[in-house]
Amino acid sequence: MARKMTVRDLREEQLRGKRALVRVDFNVPLDAERRVTDDTRIRAALPTIHFLLGRGACVVLLSHLGRPKGKPDPSYSLDPVATRLGELLNAPVRFVESTDTDEAVKATHELQPGQVLLLENTRFLPGEERNDERLSRDLAKLGDLFVNDAFGAAHRAHASTVGVAQELRPAVAGLLMETELDYLGRALAEPKRPFIAILGGAKISGKIDVISQLLPRVDGMLIGGAMACTFFQAMGLGVGKSLVEPDRVDMAKDLLASAGARLTLPHDAMVAPSLDQAARAHAVPRDQIPADEAMYDIGPRTADSFGRAISIAKTVIWNGPMGVFETPPFDAGTLAIARELAAATATGTTTIVGGGDSAAAVTQAGLEAKMSHVSTGGGASLEFLEGKKLPGVDALDDAR
Ligand code: ADP
Ligand code: MG
Repeated sequence: MARKMTVRDLREEQLRGKRALVRVDFNVPLDAERRVTDDTRIRAALPTIHFLLGRGACVVLLSHLGRPKGKPDPSYSLDPVATRLGELLNAPVRFVESTDTDEAVKATHELQPGQVLLLENTRFLPGEERNDERLSRDLAKLGDLFVNDAFGAAHRAHASTVGVAQELRPAVAGLLMETELDYLGRALAEPKRPFIAILGGAKISGKIDVISQLLPRVDGMLIGGAMACTFFQAMGLGVGKSLVEPDRVDMAKDLLASAGARLTLPHDAMVAPSLDQAARAHAVPRDQIPADEAMYDIGPRTADSFGRAISIAKTVIWNGPMGVFETPPFDAGTLAIARELAAATATGTTTIVGGGDSAAAVTQAGLEAKMSHVSTGGGASLEFLEGKKLPGVDALDDAR
């Protein structure tokens, strides 16, 4: 994909006194009292907001939150996000509750340079997910230029990501979007080698395209998670009660045959009779998974050997936990990988974590800042790694 224009390519007069309409990804988790429980995505948008404010623009923010059904639903209001953003900016953030465009447009014209306005959830608007043309034209009235910083929503062709970019120029990438595309793009196009991918998670089916896209590019692919069990079955090993996808076993056989030595599966497994009998967890070699037990994590020998592979790599992409990290002790494999990656980053290896649950595991371990890059977009990073075009990026102006 051609390099896209970013906010850094804009001239001073394109920003001073202008209304920058910025699509961000403020799709954050809320607790029962509707307080933001993880503000990672809000913090990730701050560099772009500061950049624009610092150049004399006023900032109008658009985001979706959750999955309201194309109409206002107070449980999905962005109101608590406006509060949290105000705390992070240490400045008031205006919030427009109304989804009436005229009212919203009026509010944007009342903004002074340096001020920030957050509009209500874009998914309250019936045309958003249809990428409705009329809605896109209405959204375009909310700014003098468009900035897309919502990497996490870039794989969706919605009115606030694609339609509006076609109606409002310039349409450029924000700094977070730029960073995400840089890290993922460089890893695919010109990785420092050895380049390895570590894949895990629940299902092989969701990641099959990533596996086939990455296999020809990497020097090694290490597989963990429940996904490994489908490969075990393909190898003729007993998997007991482990999670397998029977309809993907043939595909796993094909991958094993074509990948050869580049594909590494766990040597051992942490198994237990069930998840709520975690106290009975024990390690077994991969060909000795008991018939009445299931694999819930990679075993310690595997964690060691994956760790050695990481320590000699120069670029690592990690997507998908190695086990049921939500339930100790089955978090051990995932934590071991996270710690090895942190150590590798410190010695100059580029480490990239993609995937919602893998990112959560890294954050939970307090190692987020020790990775080169933790993607804020689970689905979007997967589609990028699958080699797909992201419509939200495609719609932006090409850099000259
Ligand atoms: P990501 O969001 O990082 O892409 P996925 O959504 O693909 O990751 O997978 C995460 C889920 O996979 C976690 O909820 C985890 O519990 C589950 N998982 C990992 N290993 C296993 C396993 N051996 N058995 C069952 N579930 C597993
Ligand atoms: Mg997930």
